[in-house]
Amino acid sequence: MPSHPITTSMAPAPAAVIAIDGPAASGKSTIGHAVADRLGYLYYDSGLLYRALTWLALREGVNVDDGDALAALAARTPITVRPPTRADGRHSTVEVAGEDITWDVRRPEVDANVSNVARHPAVRAALIDQQRRGAADGRVVMVGRDIGTVVLPDAPLKVFLVASLEVRARRRYDEMIARGQPADYQSILADMRRRDEIDSLRAVAPLKAADDAVTVDTTGMSIDEVIDHIVALAMGAPTESRPLPGEVRAE
Ligand code: C5P
Repeated sequence: MPSHPITTSMAPAPAAVIAIDGPAASGKSTIGHAVADRLGYLYYDSGLLYRALTWLALREGVNVDDGDALAALAARTPITVRPPTRADGRHSTVEVAGEDITWDVRRPEVDANVSNVARHPAVRAALIDQQRRGAADGRVVMVGRDIGTVVLPDAPLKVFLVASLEVRARRRYDEMIARGQPADYQSILADMRRRDEIDSLRAVAPLKAADDAVTVDTTGMSIDEVIDHIVALAMGAPTESRPLPGEVRAE
């Protein structure tokens, strides 16, 4: 028998799965990546799957209005999103059939077509399992448009990031200038408005906050304030996620 009582440490554990959704350039990737870093979690940017498929469709000449052809393309080509394999400023590495296309998926022609690709139900169905597998082991921050509503509806913490269109366009413009890329504020603004519209109005998995999401308006906040806020939310959220719809878990 021990001579004094055994005490166990009850430090709060953060939410095991954090879903962050929001419109283009709402800060999801910078903030999601930083939150994952602070918690020692995997960072998973689901938009990269849609971007990779769009890049591939453009290269292969597959019509971005043909959902079945796009889904077939996704089914026959391995698309991989994983932690960075090079230290060149990337938050993830994106590969198509082993080819590193991490920076190609940021090209303007991908920006211009990705929402059209992502609006097809067959495309979304083809990419959903891969996203769920990415969260299966927990300790993940997943960012996108429909993570809290469709991909991981039982995530214990869901955050919906918003900011005004002008602020988002300005952030994207500053980001491109800082990277030494040519940038035009008006065309960025127009592209974002168009993408938000397609993403919000599509029939399947539109961009919207889950009923149980915490909406964070980042318009007047610094990036560090938003990160601190989400980490605090994560520390206070329940740590167990419930099973996905249709999922059977072993006892
Ligand atoms: O997040 P990002 O802007 O890189 O995403 C690119 C596009 O991919 C979005 O505009 C949207 O059309 C699509 N997307 C989506 N569902 C997700 C993530 C991204 O439809 N979960």
